[in-house]
Amino acid sequence: MRIFDPHIHMTSRTTDDYEAMAAAGVRAIVEPAFWLGQPRTNPGSFADYFDSLIGWEPYRASQFGIRHHATVALNPKEANDPRCTAVLDLLPRYLAKDGVVAVGEIGYDSMTPAEDEAFAAQLALAVEYELPALVHTPHRDKARGTERTLAVVAESGIAPGRVVVDHLNEVTIGLVRESGCWMGFSIYPDTKMSPPRMVEILKEYGPERILVNSAADWGRSDPLLTRATGEAMLAAGFTDDDVDRVLWRNPVEFYGQSGRLDLSDIGDVDATFEGSSIKRGGS
Ligand SMILES: [Zn+2]
Repeated sequence: MRIFDPHIHMTSRTTDDYEAMAAAGVRAIVEPAFWLGQPRTNPGSFADYFDSLIGWEPYRASQFGIRHHATVALNPKEANDPRCTAVLDLLPRYLAKDGVVAVGEIGYDSMTPAEDEAFAAQLALAVEYELPALVHTPHRDKARGTERTLAVVAESGIAPGRVVVDHLNEVTIGLVRESGCWMGFSIYPDTKMSPPRMVEILKEYGPERILVNSAADWGRSDPLLTRATGEAMLAAGFTDDDVDRVLWRNPVEFYGQSGRLDLSDIGDVDATFEGSSIKRGGS
């Protein structure tokens, strides 16, 4: 099983994770720029972070045979801090870089006027730089947040097929599907989407325009839940080809629209995988 995780925050993960991901079949990832937990106080902190997303982290991934790409943006949460809004002026420099395959994560956290402004400005950058956009939906008030998100996307003039609206669930998929945007699902260990729920969605809607990610970060999350979802699909009667489409060809098609996806010389996927959660020593 070859896996492309289209949304994972490796900055907050360890080399054990890279090792386990490689053994599970993960060969390519996209790491979106996001909120790091500790609020940043100036644009320089973002510049250093963006540099690490296109420099250090791809190097770290490459040691495990994993191809790393990034998306850059001012995230919705920090768009509310006036000390950080100048990050918007930094973005053009990064959006021109080879390893950057989309603008993101953009969208809404609390749906404030400052978030409106940053969201629209960054969709305009995606159009200008001919890049796809990765759009985060709020974890609270999801239905209303998704509606408003789709309205802003439509107003921006970006082609819906170049936008993924992420962190969807059973309630929000219909709206996004109708819009023509791609549908992203983050599979989590104990809240929100799980592999069995994802399988039900795939049964109902089919694999078209669907992306499955682990969204693993510094919170409770599991970078191997992409693999677990593939296994749950097979157990439910989907074919290897269906799994390959959802976990590999779909993300390749979506981010391939950047013209910058480099998947040359990716190693064979071997069969050393033995279980769908990371076991750490000591317990
Ligand atoms: Zn994220």
